[in-house]
Amino acid sequence: MGRLIDHGEGGGIDGRPVSTRLNASDSFDNESEQNLLCVPFRGFGSSQRRGMNVMSLRTEHRTHIHHIFYELCKERGWALGLPTSFDWEYLPDHFTKVQARIILTDGKPVILFHPAAFNKDNGKLVKGLLHHEMCHFILGPDVGHGPVFHDYEQIWDGYYHFKQESADFARWLARQNPQFNLHCYSCGHSFMRDTVPKGRMACRSCCNKHANGQYDDNYALHIGGAVMDNT
Ligand SMILES: [Zn+2]
Ligand SMILES: [Zn+2]
Repeated sequence: MGRLIDHGEGGGIDGRPVSTRLNASDSFDNESEQNLLCVPFRGFGSSQRRGMNVMSLRTEHRTHIHHIFYELCKERGWALGLPTSFDWEYLPDHFTKVQARIILTDGKPVILFHPAAFNKDNGKLVKGLLHHEMCHFILGPDVGHGPVFHDYEQIWDGYYHFKQESADFARWLARQNPQFNLHCYSCGHSFMRDTVPKGRMACRSCCNKHANGQYDDNYALHIGGAVMDNT
């Protein structure tokens, strides 16, 4: 049984109880409307996430995480061993509500960060998100974002600085209009859509030119990630 905990805007310090309203059909790729709360997911382990376009952190980001992992262990007196006992991944970049998330399963815990958090970091954002998820790891999923969690999180020296950056990041995310970039490798044309197209699509001009206007897999459009940084 896996559990998945989000850090959304507001930081989930509202003390509401753990939500049980979501069910197992919620896929990893959806942002839950309950993103301020701990969301118990059943049977949601790495096997379910396989093939879901999950991306491990780039080397520079992983190096940064390892660095602040050790800093936090020192600052909080935590003996959590090595950062390699966690898996580090990105959240889908079109997420506009969730900033970070921890998935607790029987295997290695997975901590995921919004990819834009690394660009929007002014010193405490990524560190505070990591700190938040590590607090979840230490306290376990049952305390949710309740008072026990809140007290434990906010005694960290960097907490108020982090909350400010997290609130700024939440406002920035809320302004983003996810744009999916559909790219034709044949002619190099790109098309922007604000939703993921259903079914397969091919480049119209290439199909007209090379396939008598019929759908042709050779000119299928490649769906790139969302373009987040349109400020
Ligand atoms: Zn949380
Ligand atoms: Zn084309």
